[in-house]
Amino acid sequence: MQSLRLNALHDLFASSKFTEVPASKTISHLFGENVFDLKQAREFLSDEAYKSLTSSIKNQTRIDRKMGDQIASALKNWALSKGVTHFTHWFQPLTGATAEKHDSFFTLKSDGSALEEFDGAALIQQEPDASSFPSGGLRATFEARGYTAWDPSSPPFIMEMGNGKTLCIPTIFVSYTGESLDAKTPLLKANMALEKAAIDVCQYFDKNITKVNATLGWEQEYFVIDASIASSRPDLAMTGRTVLGHAPAKGQQLEDHYFGAIPERVYAFMRDFEDEAYKLGIPLRTRHNEVAPSQFECAPIFEEVNIAVDHNTLLMDIMTRVAKRHNLVVLLHEKPFAGINGSGKHNNWSLATNTGVNLLSPGKTPKTNLMFLAFFVNTIKAVYDYADLLRASIASAGNDHRLGANEAPPAIISIFIGKYLSDTLNEIEKRVGENFDEQDEAMLKLDIHKTIPELLMDNTDRNRTSPFAFTGNKFEFRAVGSSANCAGPMTVLNTIMAETLVQFKKTVDGLIEQGEKKEVALMQVIQKYIVESKPVLFEGDGYSEAWEKEAEKRGLSNIKTTPLALDAFVNTKSKNLFTNHHIYTEAELEARHEILLENYIKKIQIEARVIGDIASTYVLPPAIKYQNILLENLRGLKDAGFKEADYSAQKQMITKLSEHINIININVKAMIEARKKANELHNHKDKAIAYCDDVKSYFEKIRYHADKLELLVDDELWELPKYRELLFLR
Ligand code: ADP
Ligand code: MG
Repeated sequence: MQSLRLNALHDLFASSKFTEVPASKTISHLFGENVFDLKQAREFLSDEAYKSLTSSIKNQTRIDRKMGDQIASALKNWALSKGVTHFTHWFQPLTGATAEKHDSFFTLKSDGSALEEFDGAALIQQEPDASSFPSGGLRATFEARGYTAWDPSSPPFIMEMGNGKTLCIPTIFVSYTGESLDAKTPLLKANMALEKAAIDVCQYFDKNITKVNATLGWEQEYFVIDASIASSRPDLAMTGRTVLGHAPAKGQQLEDHYFGAIPERVYAFMRDFEDEAYKLGIPLRTRHNEVAPSQFECAPIFEEVNIAVDHNTLLMDIMTRVAKRHNLVVLLHEKPFAGINGSGKHNNWSLATNTGVNLLSPGKTPKTNLMFLAFFVNTIKAVYDYADLLRASIASAGNDHRLGANEAPPAIISIFIGKYLSDTLNEIEKRVGENFDEQDEAMLKLDIHKTIPELLMDNTDRNRTSPFAFTGNKFEFRAVGSSANCAGPMTVLNTIMAETLVQFKKTVDGLIEQGEKKEVALMQVIQKYIVESKPVLFEGDGYSEAWEKEAEKRGLSNIKTTPLALDAFVNTKSKNLFTNHHIYTEAELEARHEILLENYIKKIQIEARVIGDIASTYVLPPAIKYQNILLENLRGLKDAGFKEADYSAQKQMITKLSEHINIININVKAMIEARKKANELHNHKDKAIAYCDDVKSYFEKIRYHADKLELLVDDELWELPKYRELLFLR
């Protein structure tokens, strides 16, 4: 029988490669078609219910039972009019995926008549049997109760799968005793904390500002490969990445893929998932090829962070699902292929007010400029003070391959702000000790608004190596992993920003109470923050060794692995931060820490098993078969009377094959022993470190020799699709 690999290659050439997608309607016609947004709500709800809903959204309050019944009934009518049969509470548990459990509207009355029913109770709260979701010990399995509760700030939507349609109600997921068990609950709390702190600071500048929202625009990177070829790689199916595979002769060195023409088959897939996304109100805006072969990116117009998070998790699901229709596979893993770029998810973040101002957009007048400067410098200070926590927020087994691995942003958290703003901050810093009372006019006239538009336009003034960069009117947190739920990093960013703004206001108020003029007090604290957080600013090459040394001198952390990075969630500083702002209780933090460690352990454990399995059952057998062929050949040559010199190449090859086979075998055995040892450890952190240091260290050794065999063994015998096939054939 031919190998799966050869069959897949055969299929690929024989099949019509490409599923045509019907021409789309204009996007504005599709957009939001399957969302119960405020426009729909207005149409389907009574005045009273509509008001109750909008006030709940605005004030993040619960909806009472009576209104709940009305809203549920309207939702049901809207959904039935669109052919929906089932509903589900849709939530984001700590597995890193989304969860749903479908119930039908259908019910039987006591007289046996059938009808469709949906009431406020079913809308507002459910108790899924969710005992298998990770809870970090917060909820013993016998006390399995976890509740999903409607989050009115994110609108319900209809998920279509084939001809089936389900009404999805975005919810949070909490334990019986109220602890959060999901990604969304802490995010919503962090948003509230940030909003309050930001409004308070805005009051110095503009009394009309009564609402501030953090905004998020994510850029999602991903790989797309042929599904038949991918399905012949057990490592892709089990771990989302290739654990073996020699680099192809051509990788990304020619840089011919970046922004190149999108391949037709992928283009059809993109249009297909984009249409699905538009119907769900996900405002996708850009699509393009990324640097690595078969790597792509899409990005939406930014939204309020809460909605943007839902839309990103939803999109990851949609992409994965739609890809199947095209016999393609989407890889969201941070590092699916060694030797070429991995994937990230840049989180563009800013703050928007109800007055239509972007607080991180430089102003045109001294007053708005000062407001910009205040928020800009507070962000820098927040990142400096809590760099380790930000690092922890993006830590995962997958992202460890990017951070600190000489590509993508390094594990050192630093900020790039560009030349013009650096000059501005230096200018302010120089005036330490000067008496602002006499100088304030001069300070306020700092010509920020004249220099910053140049920054916006000058695209060369961009530093791709920085994990946290100011890009004209927003910060871009680039170190987030491609498969991550943005809620994690956004919860941390919003919380540390809230804390920094609260402290800022306290200090400024203190100075004002001592009789300082408002502007002068603001400038003094801004200046103090600039001086204090200066070490975190870095404009150079973040990938260079020189920076590692320099960062160490500056006292910046460089935590390269997840088990250690996660410590920052449970130190005293973080516990104080999160409990003060009511984002996490100590128990919740400890639980999350456990869950993240456990997740890390499991991922590495699975990878280790997969590497061992495929090395033994996919790599060694063809090598041995090939060696037998060579041996036969050698014997034949000997028998026919050829001299040693005539079969010396065969001999060398046989020896080489034996060497690699032996080393692989030895290392697989040793890795299994290391795993057994690691499994004996009961403390999660010790176990995670053992997996990281002792088990994972075998991966590269095994891979090195397996990849050497790939180069030696007859191509026809090789079972695993090669990089050139995965990356270039479709
Ligand atoms: P890049 O040049 O880095 O690819 P773009 O300017 O195209 O960046 O924007 C990238 C992302 O940043 C988009 O999703 C965009 O919506 C988002 N973005 C732009 N302005 C803001 C903002 N004020 N807040 C949050 N995200 C924003
Ligand atoms: Mg970007």
